[in-house]
Amino acid sequence: MKKIVSVILCAVLALSCTVFVFASDADDSFGEYEHVFIIGIDGAGAMFGREDLNTPNFDRIFADNACRHDAVTEYITTSAQNWGSILTGLSYDVHGFTNDSTASEKNTSASSNHTVFYYVRQAVPDAELVSFCHWSNINKGIIESDIGVKKVNRGTDPLVVDMIVDYFSSGNAPKLMFVQLDSVDHAAHTYGGFSDEYYAAVEKADVYLGDIYDAIYAQGLMDNSLFIVVADHGETAGGHGGQTKEESSAVLAVAGHSVNAAELGEGVHNRDVSAITLHALGIEQPEAFVSSVPADLFGDSREKTTDPNPMPERLREWRIFFYDFVRMVNILLSLFD
Ligand SMILES: [Zn+2]
Repeated sequence: MKKIVSVILCAVLALSCTVFVFASDADDSFGEYEHVFIIGIDGAGAMFGREDLNTPNFDRIFADNACRHDAVTEYITTSAQNWGSILTGLSYDVHGFTNDSTASEKNTSASSNHTVFYYVRQAVPDAELVSFCHWSNINKGIIESDIGVKKVNRGTDPLVVDMIVDYFSSGNAPKLMFVQLDSVDHAAHTYGGFSDEYYAAVEKADVYLGDIYDAIYAQGLMDNSLFIVVADHGETAGGHGGQTKEESSAVLAVAGHSVNAAELGEGVHNRDVSAITLHALGIEQPEAFVSSVPADLFGDSREKTTDPNPMPERLREWRIFFYDFVRMVNILLSLFD
């Protein structure tokens, strides 16, 4: 009898250990989200989170979420190389997108350079997919033209942001949205990467970020959405494309109900956006990916301790008005130089 009891006890113990191992291996974050929104800020590098810059929207959105301020970029710190990797999960050496190639050649589903849009379309045939870009190369040369992604190109960041705010206030809820804002990179190309104008452009991009986030939040979508901010590369006084720390560092920040409040580890790349996106939507990662979900990104779903949306509508409008006013005064003053 004693022997039978001990056999039963051992069996129960073994079973509970097995259950424990399976339970601890289970990843609740796989497929936990209905929507993913990727906001790309061209040329922003590691500017978000710098203490001498005023980025209240970035700060409030990611205060209780995960961030790597200086994620690793592709070794060629140019736009198409990096947006290509961020959207395909492939390294530049594999996808080969350049600024020239994306300006002249369409990408289609026949190519082996599939973007995350392609994989979402395969998994969810009727998914609403949309991409709003200031720099049209991404919509033309990187995102496939034959998989039903709504593509919107506008010539300025404010026009892009207006379109997005209208789109969400009309009740749209895309499965996957990509956004590219370009005025930060534009300021660096015009005035240099360490100029006052460049820093002002980063602060203005923060206002746009707040507008986009609030438009999504107002529709109640943040309950089951992942909101990602990523940069393609940073800048130097003389441009970008090289391997300096400034150029090859890029913000990667992720907000969602099960995202940990964490500074992500050192090995995080900006192209990890693609793996994070598919994982959140419950789509298996393709073998070709050299993109991965940072180990400490997801935890348990919980109430966020900070209010992500504290700024009243009117105050935000005044803030945008104030930025535009200062910009106009600066332009007028520059005429008298
Ligand atoms: Zn760029």
